[in-house]
Amino acid sequence: MPYDVTLIPGDGIGPEVTSATVRVLEATGVAFNWDTQDAGEGVMAKYGTPLPEHVIESIKKNGIALKGPITTPVGTGFRSVNVALRQTLDLYACLRPCKTYDGVPSRYSDVDLIVVRENTEGLYCGIEFEKGTAELDKLIALVKENEGKELDKNSGVSLKVISEHASRRIVKFAFEYARKNGRKKVTAVHKANILKYSDGLFLSIANEIAAGYPDIEYDDVIIDNMCMQLVRNPEKYDVMVLPNLFGDIASDLCAGLVGGLGVAPGANIGEGYAVFEPTHGSAPKYAGLNKTNPMATMLSGVLMLRHLGHIDEADRMEKALADIIAEGKSVTYDLKSDREDTTAVGTSEVADAIIEKMISLK
Ligand code: NAD
Repeated sequence: MPYDVTLIPGDGIGPEVTSATVRVLEATGVAFNWDTQDAGEGVMAKYGTPLPEHVIESIKKNGIALKGPITTPVGTGFRSVNVALRQTLDLYACLRPCKTYDGVPSRYSDVDLIVVRENTEGLYCGIEFEKGTAELDKLIALVKENEGKELDKNSGVSLKVISEHASRRIVKFAFEYARKNGRKKVTAVHKANILKYSDGLFLSIANEIAAGYPDIEYDDVIIDNMCMQLVRNPEKYDVMVLPNLFGDIASDLCAGLVGGLGVAPGANIGEGYAVFEPTHGSAPKYAGLNKTNPMATMLSGVLMLRHLGHIDEADRMEKALADIIAEGKSVTYDLKSDREDTTAVGTSEVADAIIEKMISLK
């Protein structure tokens, strides 16, 4: 039986990297019915929203989506489709594996990290107070009454909200992921020394959950120290679990350790639904040029295959990608040591080479 999967090509380079990925996924032998859905600025005129209800309904029906990046125009009041999808479908766990593949130009070798980012709250809870508003005045009065502190009237305020429920489920997710995938250690990353009530709560829940997984090593590290440790000794870490904003920043840091966004996959997972997408954005200046690297989307496809239980097919697809990267011939400009190298191939040629490689690995 083919899997019904919602396919959101996205915009910018999205359609190119997703169509290359679809070809490779189909060549694994796993059958898919793609339910293609458009979202983003391009559908605004037709539906009055960048994320029409039928797109959400399609993901709810199929349970799984493969998604290309979607542009968020700056300064238009246009809400990010990516953030809206995560919140509407309660995709609370953002999973971002960062692994070095031989042949990717990078300062590091042997990095194999899993970033588990809380996706629904923290500083992304969307509760903000704009400078000069009546709402801010009320907040200033409340803080004065309760804390005895006078906030500067010319301030902007964004709330960081950490709940027990969201902390519990994200830390559990990290430990369950570690257990299922043979990982040895989970590190909770936080700033509990300063943010005593938000990150302090996150840390105390993490300590409590960790006690239920005696088979998995556990420690906690303060975020600033973690950044330094990751740059100095990334091999000391395994699975990391972080509140939303720290997870966002650490994901990009870790993508940098393994050679950049071209090979950084991602998944947004909730209780009922999962959306697989690359970490990178829509890189509009490269749109339509058949130039950018489809491997981050393909590796997101590998995560999707594993999620569906197709471990052998996922392993073969990942091995084909790794071989193509190691050979260094059929790769895009970003995986060449000289980015001006004229032997770099295009997006769709990478898919051709990987399909051919998978056939030879059968
Ligand atoms: P970006 O990731 O699109 O591009 C940054 C740079 O990274 C590009 O100029 C390019 O040099 C490189 N790059 C990115 N993807 C690449 C690939 N596949 N192959 C080779 N090089 C690649 O980040 P940005 O410029 O900050 O964002 C552009 C738009 O994408 C924004 O509107 C942003 O909101 C959106 N965005 C969407 C998502 C998503 O859909 N999940 C994620 C991040 C950014």
